Amino acid sequence: MKDYEVEKARKDLVDGGTVSSVSPSLLTEIFDTFEDAVVVADISRCMVYVNSAAERLFGYSKNELYGEKTKMLYADESDFSEQGRKRFNAASKIAAENYRVSYRRADGELFFGLTTGSAMRTPDGEVVGFIGIIRPARSADQSLDTLQKVHNITSDIRLSHDSKIESLLRLSLDHFGLKIAIISSISGSNYTVEHCVDLQGELEPLVTFDLSGTYCIHTLSENKPVGFHFASKSEIKDHPCYKNFKLESYIGAPIRLSGQLYGTINFSSPLPAEPFCKDDYILMELLSDTVSYLLYKKQSEEDLERLARVDELTGLLNRRATQERLNQLIEQSARSAQNLSILSIDIDHFKNINDQWGHAAGDLALATFAGLASGLGRKTDFCGRIGGEEFLFVLPGTGLEDSQEFGNNLRKHLAESPINLDSGESITLSVSAGLAMLEDGESLESLLARADKAMYKAKQEGRDRVCRASHNNRVN
Ligand code: GH3
Ligand code: MG
Ligand code: MG
Repeated sequence: MKDYEVEKARKDLVDGGTVSSVSPSLLTEIFDTFEDAVVVADISRCMVYVNSAAERLFGYSKNELYGEKTKMLYADESDFSEQGRKRFNAASKIAAENYRVSYRRADGELFFGLTTGSAMRTPDGEVVGFIGIIRPARSADQSLDTLQKVHNITSDIRLSHDSKIESLLRLSLDHFGLKIAIISSISGSNYTVEHCVDLQGELEPLVTFDLSGTYCIHTLSENKPVGFHFASKSEIKDHPCYKNFKLESYIGAPIRLSGQLYGTINFSSPLPAEPFCKDDYILMELLSDTVSYLLYKKQSEEDLERLARVDELTGLLNRRATQERLNQLIEQSARSAQNLSILSIDIDHFKNINDQWGHAAGDLALATFAGLASGLGRKTDFCGRIGGEEFLFVLPGTGLEDSQEFGNNLRKHLAESPINLDSGESITLSVSAGLAMLEDGESLESLLARADKAMYKAKQEGRDRVCRASHNNRVN
């Protein structure tokens, strides 16, 4: 029912004085054709009129309701009292408003009613009665059904964390009847879309916004779920988010991860929504906790995965990960008939460093070498630590000459970059390197063996040099 219809009905009713003095036939004439349930009560909140739709919706006959307090229609007595305090009282000043509340039918079944409620006043402002126009909204059953589905999604072991998150977002859009779902991360004033489902197909992940231009700023300042179902008719109609994106409805909750603010989960639409109720805010808290758990699991699995691949001291790929990556590059080079060279690198007389300056100085030397070597390469090159003071440098798309030049360049940089110790002393590193270029059809093992042999030759020839490997394991 439109606002102006409520207005007209109210006028018609109060024209003659008190509500109870209005003839039921006039009320029937006005309201009986309405699809929405209409309940009219006197100043003490006793029902004096209900239309046919209200009889059908609540399952009572008119005679069972007339003279009874509207309390019998509410599922929860506290809602009856709260609505009484808010609008259904003789001093009520507020205009007709939409809200959702839980009602109880004659057979005991509960349902959410989307309600337009108002006091009825005489032209000079005296409250003479109350009117409520009620349409069934999302049901309590629907909230339960959604909870069941949340459980099904999160406990499905076949789904990855990302697809669980996406399914939860889609489910929630369906539940709220909204169009855009976002999981954001927030850092300072930066709001980044980490996951999203946009039924209009416009929004993409990794887009960033200024936090102050989003409704989420309210969610963060309240530090709990917040919703607006009709922004242009609310106190936030001047908010930049409304001005920029014309989003009429929004419900969002903060996400905390390991006790810290991570961002928000929020749902919105350019269209107004049904007013949000207590259950919606509870569902938002549950969704926020569920997403936080999924993000935590995802992050810890990625951390574990990274730990299993990365050498802690230098931050380079470890032996296993280096060989895996090299294997991929070998396959890629074979497919694209591109050169691929490797340098097997071993730091010279490293034992002396440990012996002379201690193990911590040795560790510092290894980390410094790693930083220097990986900083010298191109974007496609990479360096891995395959043993104590042994490294493998991989140069995709590079032939022997350029790789040799790279090796010598690395030696030059090492010579020019002494490592300064706290004691005031300094260590200058040198390396011996074996250079091998991938041959047609060659395996990883053969390539590595040739490069290692060439490295040992460099050691034998006096260290601090790059030796090339030739085909068929013949070292030049
Ligand atoms: P060469 O020139 O023949 O390669 O001599 P080297 O002393 O470098 O070779 P050797 O293999 O005899 O010694 C390598 C040393 O590297 C022995 C080992 O204690 C040390 N090392 C291996 N891993 C680490 C590490 O993580 N930290 C430190 N500080 N030392 C390490
Ligand atoms: Mg060694
Ligand atoms: Mg060594």
